[in-house]
Amino acid sequence: MRRSDVGLILFALLGVIVSVVWIVMSRTGGSVAKTPTPVASIGRLTPLETVSRQTTDGAGLVSPNAISPKPAYDISGRIITSVHVSEKAVALTFDDGPSRNLTKILKILNKYNSQATFFLVSDRIAKHAAWVNDIAMQGSEVGNHTATHLQLDVASSDQIAEELDKSQETIGQILGQKPTLMRPPVGKYNSQVVEAARSRKLAVALWSIHSQDTGDGSAAEIADRVISSASPGDIILMHETGANSLKALPLVLAGLRAKGYKFVTVSQLLALGTLP
Ligand SMILES: [Zn+2]
Repeated sequence: MRRSDVGLILFALLGVIVSVVWIVMSRTGGSVAKTPTPVASIGRLTPLETVSRQTTDGAGLVSPNAISPKPAYDISGRIITSVHVSEKAVALTFDDGPSRNLTKILKILNKYNSQATFFLVSDRIAKHAAWVNDIAMQGSEVGNHTATHLQLDVASSDQIAEELDKSQETIGQILGQKPTLMRPPVGKYNSQVVEAARSRKLAVALWSIHSQDTGDGSAAEIADRVISSASPGDIILMHETGANSLKALPLVLAGLRAKGYKFVTVSQLLALGTLP
């Protein structure tokens, strides 16, 4: 065999080895290298997606590592994100109040003969007990959104207890009865939070539709997002102080009313149906 032949054979072998390695690498590494499917900008969430995607509740708090799906609980074992109902009913919820917009929101709800649930931060109530009474007078519901909007999944058990108890006490003193629903700030919770809520007879209520009313979308965009994704039993997250929440609210109410929906509190929604 001539030297040039040996060279040719070695060169061919090298080519085969490089090809095999390339094929193996592309098969195993290909899926990892793929760009992750972008999360849809909005919409309906299944319960598990809801938990993993609730990285912000609009208070500007975003957690990059809120991805691990958690089990769902209600007061006896599941987190409430929506309710199975046979009629066209949905629950609007407003977080982070009470705020100066509260009275305007109640007026708009009145105009559409509708009720909502307000998850209040009790330290923000201070001298505005009348605002909390107005919610009850309008037929709407008050829920516990902690005392200071502390993110509970990274809090100590003492802090969790204090946040829930202070809010229960403050709201209870004003209304004469304590809330039966709580929503953890930023939608973040762990088993300790669920247990603390359950031991206080508080059901943990999240949401199935995020209006994204704290982003920079227009009122029409917010309303379209909610209206196009709503189905019976949905719990819709809005905020008292979102930039376009006040403008979007009448559009949401009118749009879903036109589709035959009624707006009830979360507790009324629970009474109308069963948990998924
Ligand atoms: Zn909040």
